[in-house]
Amino acid sequence: MHPFSYTKAADVEGALNGGRRGGRFIAGGTTLVDLMRENVERPRELIDISALPLHDVTGTAGGGLRIGALVSMAAAAAHPKVRAAFPVVAQALELSASPQLRNMATIGGNIMQRTRCTYFRDVTAPCNKRRPGSGCAALDGFNRSHAILGGSDQCAATHPSDVAVAFTALEATVHLLGPDGERRVAFTDFLLQPGDTPDREQDLRPGELITAVELPAHPRPLKSGYLKVRDRQSYEFALTSAAVALHVRDGVIREAKVAAGGVGTVPWKLPAVERSLVGERQSDALWAEAAARAADGARPLRNNRFKIELLKRTVERQLRIVGGVK
Ligand code: SF4
Repeated sequence: MHPFSYTKAADVEGALNGGRRGGRFIAGGTTLVDLMRENVERPRELIDISALPLHDVTGTAGGGLRIGALVSMAAAAAHPKVRAAFPVVAQALELSASPQLRNMATIGGNIMQRTRCTYFRDVTAPCNKRRPGSGCAALDGFNRSHAILGGSDQCAATHPSDVAVAFTALEATVHLLGPDGERRVAFTDFLLQPGDTPDREQDLRPGELITAVELPAHPRPLKSGYLKVRDRQSYEFALTSAAVALHVRDGVIREAKVAAGGVGTVPWKLPAVERSLVGERQSDALWAEAAARAADGARPLRNNRFKIELLKRTVERQLRIVGGVK
């Protein structure tokens, strides 16, 4: 591990000063410390932000929820307001990582976590995300877990977060604070597809700090849930996943929010599926018809063609679980 300095910020201003110097923010450390041990990340300065007042879940004026960036995954999953209004968020969190990691890791850190592409973590392998211009070992290598949506000729690594899939489906907003003041970014714009710059993963300006993720109000009742398909039933990343939220009134689907995980270089919003649902009555036929659009535009690699069918089945099954059948 390379030498680095460590400072604990006492307040937001102290953290922003550290950010201005080019320091890296750290809270739970469940990703960054691993990557530093493996020499994948080599920050010169760490700014510990765990003492900042960003630990609350609060209701917003419009009826949404604001989850502070330093709320732990476990605390967010257990929070009564989250469980009542957005079970899809609680379920996505509970299906992530392990209890120990969920106690340490924060919501802000979770959405900032880096890919689990094995070549990214192997410093002897070419990887455009870790070292721009060095190549991509995965594109011609073993790419079973990689993306079928949103990849480029530079990188096809999936985003590993589960709760980010729920945030994408629900059209959350990321609150940021930086040297130039506050900023809000739609969650669907916050995480970046690789394109020609796979090393640039978020819409973050130098020194900016995530302060919260806001979930907008949706019409009530909103039924929602998260389904994760993986090689083993615990402590594993998704092969495919589906976050679904439906508002049904008088037997008609009035609002549908759907996103998929494990298949995209970012959590993948499924607008074609959503459009197929809105204005229709629940039925098994509708779930199948809508889910058939889930893999539109997919470009599989040598070892992950199976994800196309698996994604459609995952979305169909979760539509049925959340929407039931009339
Ligand atoms: Fe690196 Fe992306 Fe290629 Fe993985 S898929 S080796 S993260 S460039």
